Amino acid sequence: MKRPLFKNLSILILGICLVVIKTDTSEAIYEEKYSQIIWSYLEELCELGPRNPGSKGYLRTIELIRRVGEKYSNRIVEKPFWVQVSENEKVRMVNLELQFAGTEGGAPIIIGSHFDTRPFADREIELEKKNRPILGANDGGSGTAVLLGLAHFLFQHPVARPIHLVFFDGEDYGARDSGLNLLGSTHYAQSLLKTDRRSWPYWVLILDMIGDKDLQIFKETYSLKGSDRFLDQIYSIAEKQKVSSFKPQSKFTILDDHYPFYKIGIPATVLIDFDYPYWHTQEDTLDKCSPESMFSVFSVVIETINSFKSVLVNGGK
Ligand SMILES: [Zn+2]
Repeated sequence: MKRPLFKNLSILILGICLVVIKTDTSEAIYEEKYSQIIWSYLEELCELGPRNPGSKGYLRTIELIRRVGEKYSNRIVEKPFWVQVSENEKVRMVNLELQFAGTEGGAPIIIGSHFDTRPFADREIELEKKNRPILGANDGGSGTAVLLGLAHFLFQHPVARPIHLVFFDGEDYGARDSGLNLLGSTHYAQSLLKTDRRSWPYWVLILDMIGDKDLQIFKETYSLKGSDRFLDQIYSIAEKQKVSSFKPQSKFTILDDHYPFYKIGIPATVLIDFDYPYWHTQEDTLDKCSPESMFSVFSVVIETINSFKSVLVNGGK
């Protein structure tokens, strides 16, 4: 009687080992695959050069986002708008939205990032460096690359709620206090005011400057005020995944693309690493970023949006 028991036990142990090995390998493959996809996009964006509105790199970035959208999303929505940037000059800008239908419906989650880069480097001291557009590997590049990686993922692994990946224009266009920043997100949020509230997003999550090798994401003030329970969810998932770059303390108050949504009462969160010494300088280049940092944010975001499964649990919205 003892032998079969041992046999069964050893089969059971072998089974457990195989499951553990299988989970580990598939997780490793998943990490390697998406780290590589995201990093390739960041490299491609940086090869395009500065991507400030009107530049060659900017126009090519729009083409890249369209190409990814045509391949992976259910629908691409482009919302162009004009901005009066000086007395005699208007600039055309555009928000691009890649929509993924989701399997259960409900109000969509917007995951957004600005795709434009700064037309000048106001943190530089030398005039020659100051007046040139920046490359924006981290500021403009990293968030865009993660969103493009999310398009791949959502095509292969649809989540319950509809997800709208929004590439905002004109976040970084104007000088400080010029009123010419957050242009795309402001246009988007203002357009929502003209629509039925029932069509408004469930939650807006903004990713900005999440590529730094030394990644530190603190809780931002407006995000805490307007989206407390969403932040809790993100940080508990980050803790579970042992992602040490998510710091549970609050540190900065930042006007980023989440702010126009916060102002009209939509829960809105920004994940940003504002401890970045190369911010708004010519040094914001690819070598300051890492695939591990971007993948860690990608992975926490995926599990977070997956956790909002049931529309009914969330009050039917
Ligand atoms: Zn910036």
